[in-house]
Amino acid sequence: MTRVDLRHGSATDVGHVRQVNEDSFLALPPVFAVADGMGGHSGGDVASRIAVEEFSRVPANLDLAGARQALADAFSRAQARIVELARAHRAEQPGWHAGTTAVVAVAVEDAGEMKWLVANIGDSRIYRWNHDGLEQVSVDHSVVQELVDAGQIRPEQAAGHPERHVITRALGSPEGIGPDFFLLPLGAGERLLLCSDGVNGMVSDDVIARVLSSVHDPHEAAEALVGEALAAGGHDNATAVIVDVVGFGSHDTRLGGRQ
Ligand code: MN
Repeated sequence: MTRVDLRHGSATDVGHVRQVNEDSFLALPPVFAVADGMGGHSGGDVASRIAVEEFSRVPANLDLAGARQALADAFSRAQARIVELARAHRAEQPGWHAGTTAVVAVAVEDAGEMKWLVANIGDSRIYRWNHDGLEQVSVDHSVVQELVDAGQIRPEQAAGHPERHVITRALGSPEGIGPDFFLLPLGAGERLLLCSDGVNGMVSDDVIARVLSSVHDPHEAAEALVGEALAAGGHDNATAVIVDVVGFGSHDTRLGGRQ
């Protein structure tokens, strides 16, 4: 089995406006995730914690088909748990609601090559940075993304749009709409960034690219990105998980290894 050496770092901050940090994250190689919860009366942070807890149960060393099934199962379990939690709470508190975005990446082996299997619900994002520059991998499930797709606004108008925080899919929503999946090559020297909209909603892609290209250590880079979001106003909880592909070795060892 191919071995891939991954290094990672993460940072999160409540920001300057919110009382509670409703973001959660997971960095448990080969699985990495960010979830951005929403809801009153502690519903949001519970929902995002449920999502990353379910992703933490995805086993290592799965092939592509196995990883895809394991992720789909994790999304389903999180959906069922959040819906059930809301149902139970509403018996006491009629307005109680909870939901969360989720974005997740898993390093998998497929036909002898390492790849990234990515999935998302909502507007938390995955970017990939390498020598070609910064690329947004996931596509937001949001009102402004739908407006961009329909040609009704230009992409550069999205950041200042009044409905920029309105998402069209969430874990815990009664519609139960599933995630989108993406499969990417996994290359040495590249970086993945998983982040909540408290990062990419506060700082431009240019700033993200500058930090990813200039701060070598993944933990320091995650801290720097969250610091940029705070410096730009910190209007929302901000979370960044960064994963570096250090290199490959052909050992007969477990994929990445749980560290
Ligand atoms: Mn947010």
